[in-house]
Amino acid sequence: MPVRVRFAPSPTGPLHMGGVRTALFNYLFAKHTGGTFLLRIEDTDQNRFVPGAEDYIMESLRWCGIEPFESPAAGGPYGPYRQSERKELGIYASEIKKLLDGGMAYYAFDTAEDLEQMRKKLEQEKSSNQQYNALTRMEMKNSLSLSREETYSLLEKQTPYVIRLKTPEENTPIRFHDLIRGDVEVFSHQIDDKVLIKSDGMPTYHFAHIVDDYLMKISHIIRGEEWLPSAPAHVLIWKALGWEMPALVHLPLLLRPDGNGKLSKRDGDRLGFPVFPLEWKDPFSGEVSTGYREKGYYPEAFVNMLAFLGWNPGTEQEIFSMEELAAHFSFDHVHKAGAKFDPEKAVWFNAKYLHSREPEALLPAIHKGLAEQNISRPFSDEYLLKSIALLRDRVHFEHEMTQKGIYLFQSPVKYDEAIISKRWKTEYRVFFEVWSEQCKTISTADAQHWESAFKNQCQGLRIKPGEVLQLFRVLISGESSGVDLFPMAALLGGQEISARIEKALSHPLMKEV
Ligand code: GLU
Repeated sequence: MPVRVRFAPSPTGPLHMGGVRTALFNYLFAKHTGGTFLLRIEDTDQNRFVPGAEDYIMESLRWCGIEPFESPAAGGPYGPYRQSERKELGIYASEIKKLLDGGMAYYAFDTAEDLEQMRKKLEQEKSSNQQYNALTRMEMKNSLSLSREETYSLLEKQTPYVIRLKTPEENTPIRFHDLIRGDVEVFSHQIDDKVLIKSDGMPTYHFAHIVDDYLMKISHIIRGEEWLPSAPAHVLIWKALGWEMPALVHLPLLLRPDGNGKLSKRDGDRLGFPVFPLEWKDPFSGEVSTGYREKGYYPEAFVNMLAFLGWNPGTEQEIFSMEELAAHFSFDHVHKAGAKFDPEKAVWFNAKYLHSREPEALLPAIHKGLAEQNISRPFSDEYLLKSIALLRDRVHFEHEMTQKGIYLFQSPVKYDEAIISKRWKTEYRVFFEVWSEQCKTISTADAQHWESAFKNQCQGLRIKPGEVLQLFRVLISGESSGVDLFPMAALLGGQEISARIEKALSHPLMKEV
C-alpha cells in the first residue's frame, strides 16, 4: 500500500508549533518513503471556527517549506479537502446510515439537563465509571433504552438528537499497535459512546476523520499524543465500519522548558518566546502574538529545531536541511517521552544558519537594518561586506547586525558610563589627543598595522595598552565590548576614528573627570 499521510488541523486558531511539528513529521515520513502528504481542513466544529485560521495554517506551512501535494488549494483526486464541503456531499450521512442500520450506532435524545443530571448522579454515587457508555446508557433517553415506536415518534417530531457509537456491552479488550508506543490494550468499559453526529447534523472529529482517512486512502495516522486516549474508540469505529485501520503513530507532547506540563501560548507570552510560526492577530480580541518569522528566525532553522523535538538522527549531527531530514527520518528515532522545548536552543539553531550564510546573502538584511535606523549615508558593498565579516558570527539574528553593530555605520551618541567612570583618568586625554592626530595619518586598512601603531604610541607615552584599550573602544563605538577592535579601526579608517575621538573628548563624561 503506498504511503499516504495527512495533516488535518482544525481552523480554530493559529497553528501552534506542536501542530507544525505534526505536519513536519508527516511530511518527512512521506518524503522519506516516496509517499504523498496531504492537507485536510477539519472544520466541522462550527462553534470553534475562527476566521482567518485556515489561511494562517496554509501560510505557515508554506513558510516552513512544507508543501502539501493535495490540499483545499491544490485539489487532488480525493477531494474536497475541507470537511464542511464533504459534509455537503453527503459523505458522512451515507456512512453513518450503515452504522445505524447495522446497530453499531444509535440515536440519543438527551437534553443538556439530562446529561448534567447523569453527571451529578454518577458523581454523587462516586461511580468509577463517569461516562456515557455501555454501563450507563440504558438509563438515558436513547434508541437503545426506548421502544422503536418511541424513537420514531421522537424523530418524527424533530426532537434534537445526536448519534452515538455503541460500545460493546461486554467489557472486551481493545488492542492496537502504535509505531512509537508499541502494543496498547484498553477495555471497552473505559470508553464512552462517542458522539459521531452532533445535533447540528455535523459529524464530530471522531467520526469524520475516520471516514475521510478511509476514503483518502491514508496509510498512517500521524498525530499528537493528545489523541492517544481516543484511539481505542477509533478502533471500534473502524471495526464497525468494516474497514482496515491505517497504522497509528502518536507523537510525543511538547513540554515547557522546565519539563512541567504541556507547552502553551501562555508559556511563550510569559517567558518571551514565540510558540506560533507566524504572527497571529486574534480576530476577536485583536490581541497580537509574535511568530518565529517576525522574530527573525529563518524557516530552515525553525524546521531544524522542530525536527529535534521528539526525533534525533542517532548521531551527533544537528544541522539538517529539509532534504537531509527527509533522508534520515524514521519513527525508530522518535521517542515516547514528551519533548522539552528549549528556547535557547531555538536561538542557537538560528545562529548556526546565520553563521553559515555567505556575506553577500546578508547584504539585503544590512540595507534593511540601516533603513530602519534611518541611516541614509551610502556605504559601498565592500564596506558592508567587511562589516558583515566582523558582525555575523557575533549575533544570532540578521537584524541584530545593524542593531548591535550600529557603531560601524554611525558615530556613537552615548558612551558606556560605567566603563568611563571606572577607567578614565585625566592624563589619558593627552594620550588620546596624540593618538587622534596620529590616526589621521594612517591610511591602511591593515588591522595589524593599526594594532602596532596603537601599541607603539602606548610605549612612547609610557602607558600600558591594557589601560587604554577598552577606553579606545568606548570612545569610537560607545560600547565596552563588540567586534574585534583593530579590524574595526581598520574598517572605519583614520579620518573617521580621529573625528570620533575628538567628538568623544568633548563629551561631558570625558571632560568632568
Ligand atoms: N483535527 C484534529 C486536530 O486538530 C486532527 C487530529 C488528527 O490528526 O487525527 O488536532
